[in-house]
This record gives sequence, C-alpha cells and structure tokens, in this order.
Amino acid sequence: MIQPVLRFAPSPNGYLHLGHALSALECQRWADALGGRMLLRIEDTDISRARPHYVEAIFDDLAWLGLSWEEPVRVQSEHLEAYEKALRLLYDQGLAYPAPASRTQIAHALDGLKTEGIAWHIDPDGSPHYPFGDRDRGERPDMMPDDVPIRLDMAAALKKLGISKVSEKRLDTPTSAPVTTMTDPSLWGDILLRGRDRPATYHLAVVVDDADQGVTHVVRGLDLGPSTSVQRLLQELLGLPAPIYHHHRLVLGEDGRKLSKSEGAKSLRSLRRTGIARDALIARLMATPPSP
Ligand code: GLU
Repeated sequence: MIQPVLRFAPSPNGYLHLGHALSALECQRWADALGGRMLLRIEDTDISRARPHYVEAIFDDLAWLGLSWEEPVRVQSEHLEAYEKALRLLYDQGLAYPAPASRTQIAHALDGLKTEGIAWHIDPDGSPHYPFGDRDRGERPDMMPDDVPIRLDMAAALKKLGISKVSEKRLDTPTSAPVTTMTDPSLWGDILLRGRDRPATYHLAVVVDDADQGVTHVVRGLDLGPSTSVQRLLQELLGLPAPIYHHHRLVLGEDGRKLSKSEGAKSLRSLRRTGIARDALIARLMATPPSP
C-alpha cells in the first residue's frame, strides 16, 4: 500500500489566522492517523497579493504550533511552466478560450443583464458567472494567446467527458470508509484558469500540484468544499488522479462568520505577541464546536 500524502497549502497573502492554524493542525492529525507524510505548499500565484515576508511568517507560525513538514517546500511561483502546460492542454482541445474583458467591462455587462431583467447565474460563493456567451466571444484563435486571461469552457468540458456531474470521494474520519458523491461543476460557470495578474488560478495550480506531489488526501476547510467539483473536473480533463477529500469545520469569528485575512481576522502572530501559551491555544482550537 502506498503511504498517504497530505498537504497544508496556505497562500502568503497575509498572516495566518486561527482558521489556518486549525487547518494545519487538522492536516497533521489526519497525517498521523493515516500514517501519512505531511507536505507544506506555498500557493503564491496571486502576484498582486503574495509577499515574501508572509512566507517567512508562515514557516515561523507553523513551527511555533509545533508542526514540521518535508523539505523542499513546493512554492507555486517556481512551477509556472507546469501550469502553463496544463492550460495549453485544455486550450488545444478546445476546452478553454481567451477572455480579455476587463473588470469594468464585466461589471458593465452584468449591469446590462440586470437592466434587461435577466437573472444571471451566481456561483455558490455568490459571484456572478462570466457574462459573455459564445456569440460575444469572437473568433477563438487556434494558438493560445499570451498574456490574456483564459477561461474554461464549462459546457465544452462536460460535453467532452460526456457527463453532467463529477464524482468526489470524501472521508468523514480517518478510519471511516470513503463515500462517493456526485457534484455539479457547472454551478461555477466558465471559471478563470489564467488571470491578468495570475499566471495560474487557484483551481488550475492546485490540481497540477496535488498530482505532481502525489497527494492522496486533501484535508482543508469546509469553505473549499463546494468548489472541489471544479478541481475534480479539471483532474478528469487532464487525466490526473483524484485524491480523497475531507473538509473540516471552520473557526468562526465572534460575528458567526468565517475568519478572513482580508477582513483583518486576528493573526496568529498578534495572538502570540499577547503571550498566549501554545498548548492552551491548540486545546481551545481543537475543542471549538463544529460550525453548522
Ligand atoms: N491556498 C488555499 C487557501 O489558502 C488553500 C488551498 C487548498 O487547500 O486546496 O485558502
């Protein structure tokens, strides 16, 4: 039997908060329970937000939590050719298209739909789908153009596979039997694969990395559960293996909402500065009641 491989994959866009600490500890707990290896991956393809000092802070905070990981750490910005290759594979099969519209043009098109009283599709995270259909897209060049955002053609992708849903294997606990569920990636619309300031978007980079690193079990927060269907679809299209997924409960803020770096959730660093004891913090985190 191959040894399970797990990974904690933070984005260095800010300091880690308690939600990340729980995720890292859950990954380690699952790795221990499964007798698996624990990898750390730095997901820094969002060039406009990723900063080197946040990477250093991630290492430092995780070490403070008492976690260790295998070296070398995979850093996504060092593997851009791998994502480009996957992107080209999708494009060359006619499953992706150039989507040069700017944010302003997208907002304008969405306003137009609203004015016409057309209820446009909204993804499970609350963002509207890309508002341009085949007819507005113009000629699709045979060669993938450089430096232009590229989107997945969701309808073409599902048609190519001859499916309307993808299967996802999930585990509730490290010792339970995996349960297979069918989920619908089309709820996410024509997702972005390469953006203006993102050589590869999250979904594209994650599936390439999980496969390259031989990840067998993905343990991460419940907020990332719904969009797993998109990752499963990309894995099928690219011929990559499907890991087993576990999405753990979230640490909620006092307002009952999920913690977020962008909304200034208290960083682990600032909590450490108050002199909080590591064991007390871990005990508190692991005992947090499950989120609904
Ligand atoms: N980089 C993602 C984040 O920080 C997590 C990705 C994953 O675990 O699949 O939210």
